This record gives sequence, C-alpha cells and structure tokens, in this order.
Amino acid sequence: MPELDRRLRTLSRHARGWAAELRPYALELDLDPDVVFRLRDAPAFTCAAHLQIPAAFNPAPLVLAGERFHLTAVLERVVFCEEIARGDLGMMLALPGASMSGVLVGAIGDRAQQEWFYGRLLDRPTWTFFALTEPGGGTDAGGLRTRAIELADGSGWSLTGRKRYISNALRASVGVVFLRTGDGPLDLGAALVDTATAGFTTAHVPTLGVRGAQLGELTLEEVPVAAHQLLGRHVSPLRRGSWGWQRTFNLMRPTVAAMAVGLAQAACDHVREHRRALRPVERDVLARVEGEVEAVRRLTRLAAVEVDSDSSNGHLASAAKLRATRLAARVTRWALRSFGPGARLDQPLLDKFDRDAGALEYMEGTGNVQRLAVASAMERGAFDGYARVSDRDATREDR
Ligand SMILES: Cc1cc2nc3c(=O)[nH]c(=O)nc-3n(C[C@H](O)[C@H](O)[C@H](O)COP(=O)(O)OP(=O)(O)OC[C@H]3O[C@@H](n4cnc5c(N)ncnc54)[C@H](O)[C@@H]3O)c2cc1C
Repeated sequence: MPELDRRLRTLSRHARGWAAELRPYALELDLDPDVVFRLRDAPAFTCAAHLQIPAAFNPAPLVLAGERFHLTAVLERVVFCEEIARGDLGMMLALPGASMSGVLVGAIGDRAQQEWFYGRLLDRPTWTFFALTEPGGGTDAGGLRTRAIELADGSGWSLTGRKRYISNALRASVGVVFLRTGDGPLDLGAALVDTATAGFTTAHVPTLGVRGAQLGELTLEEVPVAAHQLLGRHVSPLRRGSWGWQRTFNLMRPTVAAMAVGLAQAACDHVREHRRALRPVERDVLARVEGEVEAVRRLTRLAAVEVDSDSSNGHLASAAKLRATRLAARVTRWALRSFGPGARLDQPLLDKFDRDAGALEYMEGTGNVQRLAVASAMERGAFDGYARVSDRDATREDR
C-alpha cells in the first residue's frame, strides 16, 4: 500500500482544512444548489476550478508549502477528493472544474481542443459536463442513440439526442457529448459542446442524494457541431468512442472510491463527535468500522497508483469503487442507526450522508458493472499478485 509522501500529506492536510470550511454549508447546499456560487472565495472552490489542468497549459498551479500541484495524477486527485468529500460529498460534486470531461479531453483531444478547453477553465470558474448516459439505460453505453448527421456542405455536423443524469448539467457552460455518426461500433465518438449553442437545453432531474451535483437532462435538437469540435480526429477511430469513456472511467473510478471513503470517514467522525458517551462495545464497533475504512482507503490509493502507471489497467479501480461504495452505504446507515429511531430527524447531516451514499452506486458504472470487470480480471489472473492484500482487507460482509 502506498504511504503518502510529504508532498501528498501536505495536500491532504490543506484539503482537510478547506473541507472543514465547506461543511457548514452542506445542508444548505442540499436544499439550494445555488449556494455553491457564494463560495467562490473558498480555497477548495479555487483549487477544484483549476484541478487537472496539465502543466503545459497552466503556468500557475496550486502551491502549498513550496510544492506545486496540478492534480493531474490520479493519486493526487484521490487525496484531494477524499478530504473534500469528508467535508461534504454534495459540495465535492458541486464544485467547478475539468472533472470527467477534462480526463477525456486530456486523453483524446488534440492540442487545439485542449488549449480551448483548458483556456476556458483558466479564464473563470467553469463547470463542465460529461454526457454519456441516455434515458434508455446507462450501463449499455454502446447502445447510445444521440446522432451526429453530417451537413450536406461538409461544414460540420448536426447533433440530436437526449442525455440523462448528467452531473452539473445546469451549471455547466462546456462539456463533452458522446454520439454516433453511424450504426457500427467504430461510429461512436464525442464532441466538445458549448451549452450556449442553439438547440441545447437542460432540465433539472431531482434526486434524493448528492443534490448539490444538480443532475440534469440534456436535450440536443440539431445542435451545430463544427468538425474541429469532434474529439480524437488525430487518433484512430478505435480510440474515439468506447475506448475514450472506458479510459476516462479507469482514471476517475479511484476518485469516486475516494469520495466514498471520505463519506464513510465523515460518518465515523460524526459518531465520534456527537456520541461521546459510547459504551465499550460501541467503541469497539466504531474502531472496527474505522479499520475497514482505512483498509478501503489503502485499496483506493493502490488503485490510483495502478492507473497512474497504466491507465488501461482498471481492474483495481473497479474493485476499489465496488468496495468503497458498499462501505459508504453500510457505514452511513450504521452511523444513523447508532443514534436511535429518531436519527433521520435529529441528525439531518447523517440523514444526508446516508442519502448521498446511495447515489455513489450509480456513478461511473453500477456495482454490477464493477463486479463484471472484477470477475473478468480475476479470470485472466490480473489479481493474482494482490491476493494477500484483498484477503486482509476484506470486510466481514464482503467475504
Ligand atoms: C450522482 C450521479 C451522477 C451521475 N453523473 C453522470 C454524468 O455526469 N454523466 C453521465 O453520463 N451519467 C451520469 N450518471 C448516470 C450513471 O452513469 C448511470 O446511472 C449508470 O450508468 C446506470 O445507468 P442507468 O441509471 O440508466 O441504469 P441501467 O443501465 O438501466 O441499469 C439498471 C440496473 O440494471 C443493472 N444492469 C444493467 N445492465 C446490466 C448487465 N449487463 N449486467 C448486470 N446488471 C446490469 C445495473 O447494474 C442497475 O442495477 C450519474 C448518476 C448518478 C446517480
């Protein structure tokens, strides 16, 4: 398990402090997603806004204790996101920044597209969206129906379709839309889209958890897309569609796992802080639960190191996401129960944590998708070297 070096410990410490500043707004954001606009001066806001912009495009990165951070490495993002989510998961998801679309643009955008995209982010706090899921079902992403039709004069494309459950859909001003140009598997691709373009509309999709993320539905009606907006023009068609979203998921899943770890830790913190008179048996349970959180934190960091060294290697990221989201759901529910039958009313923050934990299951692939990925990796022996780690870290319920 990778121990954090001094540099990452510095990042972790600062992020924890920033998260503490956000916590007082957590319940308010749950009721009113616009609260995030009032937090523009918060360090976490500024940091997230510039997160993931590569050094080649961002000459003024975050500097902490003399160390420079671009947060382009997955392990850096895992450290940052865990701490901010420990403050509030809804807030973590409500912050501006490159997020998933940034990963895709970094992976398959050409130099001009990257300059344009990162330039927008550096110019002002910018929310972005990553539109893959459609009303027909998100798991079967390859069956997407959003269609780009080439204009007769060859000047570009016209995009028509619907996307659903898109994070920050209502705040975003730019993002990526996955599309198809024909019926074959190589006809899948993605385009950079400005939300101010004619034919692009959004509608709010109310949710029970992570309400700060303000999920939305996008409707695209003959949205004009110029040829230079299509991502991956300079790479093989094999890399433009499913390769792009799979690579993005590999690189982002450890971050989702880290958010789940942060949420589980926040629930433990809440019990420790607000249930001071714990009986010995309750103290033991809390210690055991925190031990489980630590084990999954280790797995998550290991997954981050793995994809940092080879982004095609997503099996540990899937295992971490699966384990962490189950843990967050179980720990937040346990924390709630430990306050007795009136807890949902008496402890509104814990009630929110529990609702938020449910949403993690769906982000970047459901538990079933991760199980399938883990099973196929096991079949080809990809986990053989990690057998002892997973045995040791397995929680009672997971075994
Ligand atoms: C908080 C949140 C944020 C999100 N943000 C985004 C975003 O920014 N961009 C985006 O594109 N999407 C986003 N999503 C959508 C998310 O990716 C989808 O919800 C997810 O992919 C599942 O798709 P679905 O909801 O259509 O469920 P379905 O795909 O219809 O699946 C329903 C159930 O069937 C199971 N299932 C489906 N197929 C199989 C199979 N072959 N084998 C076994 N089980 C299967 C699933 O595991 C699930 O339990 C977000 C969702 C949430 C909750």
